[in-house]
Amino acid sequence: MVIKPKVRGFICTNAHPAGCAASVKEQIDYVKSQGALENAPKNVLVIGCSTGYGLASRITAAFGAEAKTLGVCFEKEPTERKTGTAGWYNTAAFHQQAEAAGLYHKTLNGDAFSHELKEQVIDLIKQDLGEIDLIVYSLASPRRTDPDTGEAYISSLKPVGDVYTTKTFDTSKKLVHEITLEPANQDEIDNTVKVMGGEDWELWIKALNEAGVLSQNCRTTAYTYIGKELTWPIYGHATIGKAKEDLDRASTALNNTYSDINLKAYVTSLKAVVTQASSAIPVMPLYISLMYQVMKDEGCHEGVIEQIYGLFNTLLLSDNPPVDEANRLRMDGVETNDDIQGKIKAIWPEVTTENFPELGDYAGYNQDFLKLFGFGFDGVDYDADVSPLADW
Ligand code: NAD
Repeated sequence: MVIKPKVRGFICTNAHPAGCAASVKEQIDYVKSQGALENAPKNVLVIGCSTGYGLASRITAAFGAEAKTLGVCFEKEPTERKTGTAGWYNTAAFHQQAEAAGLYHKTLNGDAFSHELKEQVIDLIKQDLGEIDLIVYSLASPRRTDPDTGEAYISSLKPVGDVYTTKTFDTSKKLVHEITLEPANQDEIDNTVKVMGGEDWELWIKALNEAGVLSQNCRTTAYTYIGKELTWPIYGHATIGKAKEDLDRASTALNNTYSDINLKAYVTSLKAVVTQASSAIPVMPLYISLMYQVMKDEGCHEGVIEQIYGLFNTLLLSDNPPVDEANRLRMDGVETNDDIQGKIKAIWPEVTTENFPELGDYAGYNQDFLKLFGFGFDGVDYDADVSPLADW
């Protein structure tokens, strides 16, 4: 079939296998162009390994440290008539490249929140790897089923406390306009914490430790976004921010509970980038477009792979990395500094539908968005008839 992007609101409902392979290769080439990582982990588990920051973490571990990688994701397989999800094709491409490089790679596709998936991962570790020395927790999901009660929880993207009126950019209608977001009630806050908070990260580490597959001195990190004033009402101080605060609680609990094996658990705060998860959050497409413009003008823009390679290279693998007041690793310092934020704040009130293309980098945002699904890569023939099928 000839595959062209089918964008519906903040999601693209199809993906291009050759384009996703180009995207994975671009990231691998970036990592290979950097120096080999010191203090490298040997056996790495990436939970949420198929897209965004998790995929970049897997690529960095494999191609920057020659680590064996075991991945977990939740992706849709293609059929003869329908493409798979981008994460499916990314994983197929990662496997192909890792195979060619002689690097161990296995991926389990299923619900990371379930006990069954955790057991399957543990069986694979016992069979193939023995122990794990780095666990990256990079899930982004709108729902979670509690594995003990079977109860399903849905997260909300709402302010906490007050009604919040701000500008946003509607990516379907291509309009900058005001939106008013009603605050979440307590149930919505609690449910978001249940889905995106630290409970499942703790369950993973507990299960791995009980099975005896965590190495002495092993590390784990979960990813957060903290941001600043412009995004706090919808992110940092909103329902999702409450869930992210719970990650801080979980990291402290993990460090205390597993001190016998000297586990080091960190929450890492990363820069805002275009991913499937961030595109779904109101205000973020506008904020990211303006932030990209400012950071590109200042020559300090970074994408997922630069952020994650930088994290591994400068913080995560160090023995005593610098941490903030909540023991977090910070890769978001450039985005959140007063100079960059001041420049974004100066543009914010001026932006209208008409001047958005000049004031903001929506072209860059949109290009990155399409690339998430394998569209817009040089060297890929988008008029060619390709098979949507791909296997791992
Ligand atoms: P993403 O949507 O690109 O990736 C999500 C991953 O989770 C995919 O691999 C998907 O398959 C997997 N997944 C989702 N539900 C699953 C389930 N039930 N079982 C197994 N796998 C499942 O998201 P992302 O933006 O890379 O986000 C990853 C983490 O990084 C999140 O914690 C997010 O909050 C954080 N983060 C993102 C940004 C950003 O701007 N995108 C910034 C800072 C931090």
